[in-house]
Amino acid sequence: MFIDLSTYMLADSTYSNADIVIFSIPYDGTTSFKPGARDGGKSIREASWGLESYSPILDKDLTEINFCDLKDLDIYGSQKDIFNMIENEVKRILKDNKKICIFGGEHSITYPIVKGIKEEYDDFVVVQFDAHADLRDEYLGNKFSHACVMRRVREINNKVFQFGIRSGDKEEWEFIKKNNIYLKSTLPSKEDIEYIKELNLPVYLTVDIDVLDPAYAPGTGTPEPGGYSSRELFNSLYLFKDLDIIGFDIVEVAPIYDIANITAITAAKIARELLLIL
Ligand code: MN
Ligand code: MN
Repeated sequence: MFIDLSTYMLADSTYSNADIVIFSIPYDGTTSFKPGARDGGKSIREASWGLESYSPILDKDLTEINFCDLKDLDIYGSQKDIFNMIENEVKRILKDNKKICIFGGEHSITYPIVKGIKEEYDDFVVVQFDAHADLRDEYLGNKFSHACVMRRVREINNKVFQFGIRSGDKEEWEFIKKNNIYLKSTLPSKEDIEYIKELNLPVYLTVDIDVLDPAYAPGTGTPEPGGYSSRELFNSLYLFKDLDIIGFDIVEVAPIYDIANITAITAAKIARELLLIL
């Protein structure tokens, strides 16, 4: 056997045989504080090889699923150009009846991803894990900043559930109250999952790694103290096992701020468990 650190471990199906397609988006153009998330995908892939392919909790092995890794999307041009490329790629993969696993990049990429999903799925749910509400209408003059991503996503699809949120500015909290937004500082509980399940819709998950406490994920641009442990996040993700998940992204992993690859390994394991749940 040979290993290829430039792909996620064991992602060796061909595109046509794959049920799940991984790709990454090396974009951190709107990062407000510290850039570096463009290298997130690379670090997650390298770290994945240090994990077992078997999940004892899910009793399933990556060798049992058909998935491929297209590596980095070749992005260039303006943010608008890049967003179009992302949207088209997502649309293409979903049209081929495959599920998606996307590594960021920063969180703004979730907006074109959701746009792409909207073209293939009429109705679906978006579940966000994040320390930040990301509900600003505009940030540093950009409506498509990572700080605005869930505000923009809501304009495409308002079936959004936000968890782990412990940071946002005053206007965001007023917007949350005024619009009765399903947003919690906790991770999803069994009750939350029941509520989502009853909608009987496909689910897309977006995981901003800073939902974790900086102790568990120091390698990110805007760490927010008071977060969750890796174990708490995993236990919450396992609750999604019986839902119809069409894909997920893991964003804001910035290896230049990481310590001993903690963040990359954690993101790689989140990916493994979600790949096995899909
Ligand atoms: Mn975010
Ligand atoms: Mn965040």
